[in-house]
Amino acid sequence: MTAFDGLPPLREVLEAHGLDPRKALGQNFLLDLNLTGRIARQALPLEGATVVEVGPGPGGLTRALLSHGAGKVIAIEKDERCLPALAAIASHYPGRLDVVEGDALAIDPDRLCEGPYKIVANLPYNVGTQLLLNWITGTTWPPRWTDLTLMFQKEVAERIVAGPDDDHYGRLGVLCGWRTDAEILFDVSREAFTPPPKVTSAIVRVVPKLTPIEARLADVERVTAAAFGQRRKMLRQSLKPVGGEALLARVGIDPTRRAETLSVQEFVSLANALDG
Ligand code: SAM
Repeated sequence: MTAFDGLPPLREVLEAHGLDPRKALGQNFLLDLNLTGRIARQALPLEGATVVEVGPGPGGLTRALLSHGAGKVIAIEKDERCLPALAAIASHYPGRLDVVEGDALAIDPDRLCEGPYKIVANLPYNVGTQLLLNWITGTTWPPRWTDLTLMFQKEVAERIVAGPDDDHYGRLGVLCGWRTDAEILFDVSREAFTPPPKVTSAIVRVVPKLTPIEARLADVERVTAAAFGQRRKMLRQSLKPVGGEALLARVGIDPTRRAETLSVQEFVSLANALDG
C-alpha cells in the first residue's frame, strides 16, 4: 500500500529501515501525514521556496514540505540510520531534497542556502532551545531566514512567546520579543508521536522583525542574564553586577521593580545605557 504521495506509509518505512526510536536523539516521530501536512501549511507559501529542515528522521514532515511545493528541502539529520529512507524520498522528488548528515548545532544554515530560506522542523527536544537561540542571535540582522515554523515542548513554546507578568517570561522571551514576532499556532498532543513524549507539544511560528530597536546583542544578553538570574529580587539588587541603581536611574526605571515586570523595550533601553 502507498500513501497519497506514492511513497510507503511511515510505519512501513520505520520497519523497513529498522528505525527504532532513540531517546538520546530526541526521536519522537510523527507518522500521520495529515498532521505533517498541517504543519507544512503553516509555512506557506512553499511554492518554489528553499526550506531547511532539522531532523527529518523517517521523513514525514519532509514529504509534506515537498508535496506542498517546496522547491528545495535541505534536511540536516544526525542519525545515519535515517539516510536510506531519506534517499528514497530524494529519488521520488528528483533534485528537490538534499540531505546533510551532521549535527545541526554545528551547522550554520546560511552556508547551505544561496538565497532566503525558511526553517521548518519537528525539533529534537534536547537541542531545540539552543538551535532557536543560534538562529535568533546571528550577528547580521535581519537574518537570511524569512520565518521559522517549529515544534517545541509546550513549556518551551510558552517561554518563547512570553511577555511581562507571565510566569514563563525570561531571557528567551526578551530575546525573541526584541528581534522577532513569535506566536503559538496550535498544540500537538503526546499521542500524535511515536513514541509519545511525556508532555504536550506546540507549533511556534517566528518571523524576524526587520528593524528591531537598535542595541548590541551582547548588552541585551548581559542585562537579561543579570535580571533573570535573580528574578525574584528587586532590580536594584539583581542588576548590581551591571550597574545597579545608577543604571536604572539613567533609564528612569523604578529600582524596586522585578525583572518579570519589565517590557522588552525597557530591557533594550537598559542594554543601551550600560557603561562601556
Ligand atoms: N521530523 C521527524 C518527524 O517529525 O517525525 C523526526 C523528528 S524527531 C523529534 C527529531 C529528529 O532530529 C530525529 O530524526 C533525530 O535523529 C534528529 N536529531 C537529533 N539531534 C539532532 C542534531 N543535533 N542535528 C540534526 N538532527 C538531529
